[in-house]
Amino acid sequence: MIYDAIVIGLGGVGSATLYHLAKRGVKVLGLDRWAPGHNNGSAHGETRVIRQAYFEHPDYVALLQRSYALWDNLETETKQQLFNKIGVLEIGPNQGTVITGVLEVAKLHNLPIEQLTAAEVTSRYPGFSIPNGYCAVVEHNAGILKVEDCVTGHVQQAVATGATLQTSQQITHWLRQADGSITVYTQTDEYKTNKLVICAGAWSNQLLADIGVQLEIKLKQTRWYACQTHAYRAETHPAFMYELPQGIFYGIPQINDLGIKVARHTGGEVITAPPKVLNDGHLDDRFDSEEGQAIGWFVNNHLKQTTSKITRQEHCMYTLTRDGHFVIDRHPEDENIVFAAGLSGHGFKFTSVIGEILTQLALDGETAMPIDFLSLKRFNAGYK
Ligand SMILES: Cc1cc2nc3c(=O)[nH]c(=O)nc-3n(C[C@H](O)[C@H](O)[C@H](O)COP(=O)(O)OP(=O)(O)OC[C@H]3O[C@@H](n4cnc5c(N)ncnc54)[C@H](O)[C@@H]3O)c2cc1C
Repeated sequence: MIYDAIVIGLGGVGSATLYHLAKRGVKVLGLDRWAPGHNNGSAHGETRVIRQAYFEHPDYVALLQRSYALWDNLETETKQQLFNKIGVLEIGPNQGTVITGVLEVAKLHNLPIEQLTAAEVTSRYPGFSIPNGYCAVVEHNAGILKVEDCVTGHVQQAVATGATLQTSQQITHWLRQADGSITVYTQTDEYKTNKLVICAGAWSNQLLADIGVQLEIKLKQTRWYACQTHAYRAETHPAFMYELPQGIFYGIPQINDLGIKVARHTGGEVITAPPKVLNDGHLDDRFDSEEGQAIGWFVNNHLKQTTSKITRQEHCMYTLTRDGHFVIDRHPEDENIVFAAGLSGHGFKFTSVIGEILTQLALDGETAMPIDFLSLKRFNAGYK
């Protein structure tokens, strides 16, 4: 049997791609080593921030507007709340990367935001401690996605629409055949397809070794801290990003008894390849690393209403391109193979639209979405 399309990897991007391919009525197979929603890649840990006034690059805004509509559709289909619009507060120096970027992008795209002084922030949200010379911006049309539910929601809807799912399948390699089809080999089986979509996250260097882009993998740490009663509750408190000379930190307010979730966006330990299993406890000794100490420092100095009790810790991986922007394209040597890689620690909010874009690239050979700034060609020969 030959599939119309195979999706390798059913994390953030792959689950959405499986969903969009199934909606287009093609015979599609999704393959992964683990069951959707697992905690060994980059799409676990309860929540992901979603926002539109995107300081990283103004061209992301069109993609975000489409991704908002697609998350909304998925919520309707799954009858589950996936997006909690609690707002996102961004704090930083007046002339810093975050505040300057948010203000510029909001102006350019006419996005509603509210500017606050440091005194206004601490009066509205007394849990923060803010240095002199800092200010803030709130985007009320922003919030958090329930990350595992988004992945499983996409996969469940894809299967309900006719997609086939095979987990416990570790792909070893794929080969282009003389007839134009592609064979995907796993440790135990092989599958034939006309179109291949590779969404391998932190394993992309192995499966996309021939595209000439070396991705950097970073082991990142997330901590949950117990809080003083009623502090940082999601009903009254936004998610936040906080730019400091020591790095950019972020947090998700309390959505359950674990407390506030805090991590550092910048920094992290570079690793040569993903560990075999990320969160089985064997990496526990690494929880005292420099990253953990930096998060602890941030919590002690800038979140006044936390306790020092850590209620949960997780590892997760960033897969970074040299410029911090994703790479979404067709394979340079085969137009029947498309991929998305290097989501660089900020890509989950986009996965719904990336799944739609990959489906269009695979089935139609093109997309109307503006993704030129994410193309492979920006990494000229010589980039390793
Ligand atoms: C701590 C942390 C916080 C983050 N916070 C945010 C945030 O607030 N907002 C935001 O938008 N983004 C955030 N991100 C980034 C976002 O979560 C990731 O960019 C996104 O999940 C990456 O999706 P992906 O599909 O590329 O990778 P993954 O979701 O990891 O999926 C890759 C899949 O491929 C499978 N796979 C790979 N190789 C093989 C193989 N050989 N055989 C079989 N299966 C294979 C894996 O098992 C996995 O399921 C964060 C990331 C981390 C780590």
